[in-house]
Order: sequence, then structure tokens, then C-alpha cells
Amino acid sequence: MKASILVPSALALVAGLGFTFSNTSEGYALLSHSLSTAQRDFRVYNTFINSGANNNVAPDTQFPGAQGAVMAIWKGCIEWGSRLHGNGNGDSTQNGDLGSGGANFDATFQGEANYVGTLGDNICSTVSGTPNGVLAYTEINGSGSWRMRFYDSWNWADGPGSISGSQMDMQSVACHEYGHALGMDHSANAQATMAPAIGNGQTSTRSINFDDIAGVQAKYGVAGANKPIVSGITSAVLGQITITGSNFGANNEVWFTRQNFVGTGTPLTVGGVASTNGGTQIVVSVPNDAQSGDVLVRNTSLSGGVSLSNAWPFDISSIQCPGQGTVCTGFPNSTGATGELYIFGSQNVAANDTVLTAAAVPANQFGLFVYGQGSGLLPVSNGIFCLNGSAFYRLGIVQTTIFQTASYNLDLNNLPPGGQISAGQTWNFQFWHRENGGVSNFTDAVSYTFCN
Ligand SMILES: [Zn+2]
Repeated sequence: MKASILVPSALALVAGLGFTFSNTSEGYALLSHSLSTAQRDFRVYNTFINSGANNNVAPDTQFPGAQGAVMAIWKGCIEWGSRLHGNGNGDSTQNGDLGSGGANFDATFQGEANYVGTLGDNICSTVSGTPNGVLAYTEINGSGSWRMRFYDSWNWADGPGSISGSQMDMQSVACHEYGHALGMDHSANAQATMAPAIGNGQTSTRSINFDDIAGVQAKYGVAGANKPIVSGITSAVLGQITITGSNFGANNEVWFTRQNFVGTGTPLTVGGVASTNGGTQIVVSVPNDAQSGDVLVRNTSLSGGVSLSNAWPFDISSIQCPGQGTVCTGFPNSTGATGELYIFGSQNVAANDTVLTAAAVPANQFGLFVYGQGSGLLPVSNGIFCLNGSAFYRLGIVQTTIFQTASYNLDLNNLPPGGQISAGQTWNFQFWHRENGGVSNFTDAVSYTFCN
């Protein structure tokens, strides 16, 4: 693969601080290659070794699921996007302005890789060696794919704000190197992100300037009037998102970020998705292999960069079925232990496979599982009733086993009147049983959400 390198484009360290910018003229230059829509993915192999490279652990709603070097490089690359990435926030040095290219060009963050990869893998990683003033470089092959390397001997900083004067800014360097990846050469404009050098502590080139913008627009064309635009993502149903925007086609692909360490960088896509409301809305189920990242929409009746929308942040926790929770803990029963409730199954209403199980309850006693959507703390007999005492439903009577357990297959198609369960609802369950000696007691209560 080495033989196919066209341009090992590097970014150098400016010797010393305080160098002056004197050239403000248009100075961009273009490399011969461009990236097809099939090569818009980028991944990060996070092998940075200095502590400052991964000490940003604060979540950012515009970069969900990422932190440290991964988040910094994600920010650096999407700055070249056609329009604001989400609300454009995420970089305090250019508030509300991440995503500035205005061209028929958008990249898709495809999560983390766990290998360096070849030139065709579009992965950002570190490399050891003697840099001689070089910070990083991007290898490019003739078919329009690439690999980005950062020398790990530098004191890299992941931001997210300004950095100290002894550090090198990873986001700025990623932004510069991704400029090479997409087909930009060094600019003669010293204030451009594509200027060939950067100083210690410098963060100004996180933001591409007019010269860089002119370059990417010359390479890919000014963003077309028919280019799909994503302007929001909401979720009314677990497992599903509604994408709002404009210029969506009759038939679209929705691109998701694939789970870390899975796949080869090819975006996770859902095809054959129609739009509604005059091409302004798309409803799509989120595939299992998706993770938090970006969502893009491609109008399949178009081709090239104009067919692919801007990248919009997507937090998968907003659509995932929540886990179980404890509603309240019971009192010890006549076994000496506190009864426990377990709920097994897929949470999927169509699967209808929920099994309620009580444990550590008295053997050979009658009991029944109860459920409701409210909660309470009502002392009853020897125990504590954790549901709303005036709005709960009883399931069929069961007998506990000699192993001090009881079990019930919850049939969603055969529930008590008024107690129907639907996807998206959370219900609380508890087991109510006779004690040895004639009184009653309860297990703890567990909340359980049903989903599609
Ligand atoms: Zn360079």
C-alpha cells in the first residue's frame, strides 16, 4: 500500500512562539484526489499516550458518547461539514460555529477502531518515531482513501477549551489533516487551517477560515440548493427516531454511526426509507448496531456529495429501552430473608416473553403477582406494599415451590381489564404471598419498561 501514497502531507511545528501572520490573501491549493461519498467515514484508534490527550471526560450533547481524543478528532473533522453540526457548539473557542464548509461535502463519524488500518481504512491514530518538527501526517492513495497519524511524542491536548502554551492542539491538527484527507493541499494564507505550520498552544485553526472554505467549495462545489438538510432529531417511540429537515427524497438512506470496534468503517445504513410532509420528515427504526454518533440522510435519487446531508448528533440513550429499577425494598418474611422479585424476558411486547419470578419466599404458600404504574409505601400485614394501593392489578394465584420460589408467565394478550400493557410504558411489579402462620408479606418491587 505504501507505493500508492501520493501525498504524505504533514503539518509542522512552528519553531518558537509569537510568529506573525503576514499573509491574508487567498492561498488555498488543492490535491488531485477527492473523496467519494463511499469514503466519507472516519474512525479514531485512540492510542494517545500522554495524559493531556485524554483528560476531557465531560460529556457534550453535540458529541454524544465520546470523550478525550475521540471527541477532539471528531470535532476537528466535522468542522469541514456543509453546515452547523447540531447547534454548532462543542468548542468554546468558536461557540456555535462547528461545521463551516458550505460545500457538497460532509463526513460521517464511524466511532472507534482497534487497529491502525491501511490507507483504505480512513482511521486516525498515533505513530511513534522521530518527528523532526512534524506533528502529524496524512497518507492518501489515488482512489481517495487515507490514514491519519499523529506523532505520539508531542504533548497533545484534547481541549475542549483553550490549552496551555506547552501543549499541541489535537483538534486543530485533526482539522488540518482532515483537510488533506478530503483533498486540500497547504495554503499560502498563514491564517488558514491549511497553513503548513501551527504553534504551541494555538487553537485558532480549529475553525476553518474563508480561504479554507473557498478551497473545499472549489473542490466539491458550493452546497447545492437540493442537498438534504437535517435540522433536528426527536424520538416519540423507543427504538425509533423522527428526523426533521428539508430536501429529503421519496427514497432515502439514513446513515448511523456503527458501534465501536465493529465493521470496517462503512457507515451503518438503513435503506428504502420514505419521507413525509413534503420531504421534511423521516421516521426510521434505529438498527441494533448503531451507537451514539451522527445521523446523515442520503437522497438516493441524487448522486455525489449533493445527495448526502449534513451530520447531526444523535444520542442513542434517547431511544433505548430503559433497564429495570428497584421501586422499593420489602421487609424480611418468615424465612428470615427479604423476598426478591426478578423479571426475565426481552422487554419486547411482540415477543410477549416476560416471566415474573419471586425468590426467598416461604415454601408451599399461595401468592400472586401484582402490578401497576404508580408506587407507594403502604404497610400491609408483615410487609410493605410498594404500588399505588388504589390502582393496581392482580395476576393469577400461584403456589410457591419447596425451593421458596414462584413463577408466572405474563401473557400480554390476557391481562386483567384496565391493566393492558403497551410498548413505551413502565410498570411496577411485586409478589404478594401468604406467610407461615396466616398473615401476608411482599417481595421487593421492580420497575420494568416494555418496548418495541
Ligand atoms: Zn499539512
